[in-house]
Amino acid sequence: MEVNDNAYLHPQALLLFFRMLSKTKRPLKKWLLDIYRILEDTYGVQECFLKHEDPLQLMVSAILSAQCTDANVNRVSPGLFRKYKCAKDFAEVNIKELQKDIKSIGLYRAKSKNIIASCRKIINEFDGKLPSEMEKLVTLPGIGRKTANVLLCHAFNKPGFPVDTHVQRLTNRIGLVKTENPVKIEMIINKNISEEYWCSFSQLLISHGRARCQARKPNCGNCEIRNLCEKRV
Ligand code: SF4
Repeated sequence: MEVNDNAYLHPQALLLFFRMLSKTKRPLKKWLLDIYRILEDTYGVQECFLKHEDPLQLMVSAILSAQCTDANVNRVSPGLFRKYKCAKDFAEVNIKELQKDIKSIGLYRAKSKNIIASCRKIINEFDGKLPSEMEKLVTLPGIGRKTANVLLCHAFNKPGFPVDTHVQRLTNRIGLVKTENPVKIEMIINKNISEEYWCSFSQLLISHGRARCQARKPNCGNCEIRNLCEKRV
């Protein structure tokens, strides 16, 4: 059979063609679920990255984790929770003493202030118990929407999709969203994947952000979801 020269496509052109194809609009719901399944197979069931034994401990750890690695928080928190066993212990401590206890963690002045203020509010307004509703959680000093979602899903077993910097970066790189706004990202994902997946999907994206899709150097060549990603390089 005669080979028609015009039918030959350079490998580079073929690659471009397939990339264009992969960028055509996909149904978001299926796209999310496909990514979820692959990441679940890759990383398995994920536990909360911050060690804790009760909701209050998780709240304190979450406040401590701002601009600090989870590993650093987990190194300090066991000693802290041996010393401070309940909201009252944190609420009554002298701020200088708490600052000393968490000094090895960055932003320790602001974090001490927020921990004490949150615990006072928990005692004065919520009967000494951390509330389990988003609208109440975000009234606590140092608790934003991301931390409130962490608490909902890991402390109260409720649906929550925490959007941290990994989740923000990955959802944009993959092409799932086109916004850096964490609340908008949360709303888009929540609308398109069943709430039973919210918490673990956020955890899986964080794991993938750490393992493969780091901020400065995404390892696209070895990425398990590269065929589902618009950014892959
Ligand atoms: S293909 Fe690259 S950019 Fe996309 S998720 Fe994987 S590592 Fe990140």
